[in-house]
Amino acid sequence: MKKKQFKTESKKLLDMMINSIYTHREIFLRELISNANDAIDKLYFRSLTDSSVAPTRADYAIFIEADKEARTLTVTDNGCGMTEEELEANLGTIARSGSLDFKSKTESEDIDIIGQFGVGFYSAFMVASKVVVTSRPYGAETAYRWESEGADGYTVEECEMESFGTSITLHIKEDCEEERFSEYLEEYTIRSLVKKYSDYIRYPIKMEVSREEKEEDGEGYKTVTTVETLNSMVPIWKRPSGEVSDEEYADFYKTKYYDYEGPLKVITQRLEGAATFTAMLFIPKRAPFNYYTKEYEKGLELYSSGVMIMEKCADLIPDYFSFVKGLVDSSDLTLNISRETLQHDRQLKVMAKAIEKKIRGELEKMMESDRTSYERFFEAFGIQLKYGVYSDYGMHKDTLKDLLLFKSSGEKRYVSLKEYVASMKEEQKSIYYAAQDSVERIEMLPQVKAVKAKGYEVLYLTDDVDEFALRLLESYDGKSFANVTAESLDIATDEEKEQQKSENEASGDMLGFMKDAIGKVSAVRFTPSLSDYPVCLSSEGELSVEMAKTLKRMPGAEAGIPDASVILEINMEHPIAAKLKSLYESDKDKLASYAKILYFEACLISGIELEDPTELTKLVSELMI
Ligand code: ADP
Ligand code: MG
Repeated sequence: MKKKQFKTESKKLLDMMINSIYTHREIFLRELISNANDAIDKLYFRSLTDSSVAPTRADYAIFIEADKEARTLTVTDNGCGMTEEELEANLGTIARSGSLDFKSKTESEDIDIIGQFGVGFYSAFMVASKVVVTSRPYGAETAYRWESEGADGYTVEECEMESFGTSITLHIKEDCEEERFSEYLEEYTIRSLVKKYSDYIRYPIKMEVSREEKEEDGEGYKTVTTVETLNSMVPIWKRPSGEVSDEEYADFYKTKYYDYEGPLKVITQRLEGAATFTAMLFIPKRAPFNYYTKEYEKGLELYSSGVMIMEKCADLIPDYFSFVKGLVDSSDLTLNISRETLQHDRQLKVMAKAIEKKIRGELEKMMESDRTSYERFFEAFGIQLKYGVYSDYGMHKDTLKDLLLFKSSGEKRYVSLKEYVASMKEEQKSIYYAAQDSVERIEMLPQVKAVKAKGYEVLYLTDDVDEFALRLLESYDGKSFANVTAESLDIATDEEKEQQKSENEASGDMLGFMKDAIGKVSAVRFTPSLSDYPVCLSSEGELSVEMAKTLKRMPGAEAGIPDASVILEINMEHPIAAKLKSLYESDKDKLASYAKILYFEACLISGIELEDPTELTKLVSELMI
């Protein structure tokens, strides 16, 4: 039986091609420039082996010309050009890529062919009602014109052309409600599209531009036209990093990421192997104003052979390093047909892993060798690292724990966990910390004074996330974390413990009475080592007072969060202890008031807001009368 060919509905196919592949119409220019680049690369490649091919590398260029009156935009190259047959084959067949053929037949380091799917050209129809291609192959006498208004087909005829190469003219569509196509005829738009997508095409992209300039005599203006190269050509990340000055990096960073100051740190990475790529990363000096909001979008720019594919590739950077800006360029990405995304995220994953490791290593290095910069970095982005420890059920805690810094009672401005542990006392059991809204408040806590008096350092946690992060870490280097306001804090000497036990047993009834009078604590007890403070609060169980406070502040959380279970500790060496005991014998009503007042006092010291401050003021006033 005779085999029949599939008939393609080319009209439908072309329509699909034009309207459904791409998310942004503006990429048409990227596609035409990429094709011009490929055409030049092909001729350049021929010149390497064929001495009759005259142009040298310096002669090659891509020209863009916009004619507002005629509403045409023309992209011209002096590349290999196309014969009549090639025009038919390459532009008359959807999904046929002459460039892919070429690439598979040649192996050269020196060329970097971009095309592969054979559809990019048709993106011109997203903005043009008619496309005219004139082309003359290098060395040929005759030129041909290919013309099409889209789905209805195309014509090819002989024509005149002065020089070799290809010229593609788009007749830009009329403006409509949803799009101002005239935009694409503006110098400004063309300039920014070239910058955005094609800045690193290796051949110059030139355009004639006009400027108003002051006349020599200083009066009036004249129009000066010059031919300008719009692209930078050589990406700075492709240059050996030793050859790029700090200033060049800073300038690049500032213009690209709209920062008014240079970066705190530049990180360059070149990798070959499982993934081959070059990355250029920047850590800003300050958090962008929207960094800690939902508006902030993380991500690195993704380039494939110098052509921008994705503006913000979020998968390349983990959330806890979301402050890193920069780009990744790789020539062996498997792109999808729109060249807007990657086909397999396996490649991305390998790259992301390597990038994460690099960033972490650089930060660790900075912490060791340039502490001032690191502290500056941490002040801007440390919270993000602490959230990183806490998020995903602590999955990244090992990656991040050595990057954390804390304020503390020690001499250093900030201490790392490693440094804390290194300076721990021999008998010290835990890594002590206290949490409050500010260092001042922390230093007011009776328990902090008590722990410091023993000669132990206390970490000062002042960010909401701090204690949650430490709880997830559980321990560091085998040392557990201990909140100094937790009931389980164990710093008293054996002698003190003995004394405390007998005191509490002897006054058991009275303490129970006080507990009932207060009604909001799980116990009242005598405690040694509170120096000159009469009372303090400590918490029992998993939830500390500070954590409960934080959780309750979360929107919508008020109802479900339990109070931390707290114990009122009374300084057994303070004169108040004797007073309470005598009241228990003589005036139980007064003891009840005292108990409440002491509880309120303890709350105030711990930074807990009183639900009803008038209750305290009433009690105190009554005592005054
Ligand atoms: P791709 O670039 O992915 O191959 P396109 O649809 O962009 O697909 O282009 C189809 C083919 O047309 C190219 O592979 C190339 O052979 C040919 N072509 C397009 N533009 C030019 C040009 N400016 N000069 C020479 N050949 C071109
Ligand atoms: Mg192409």
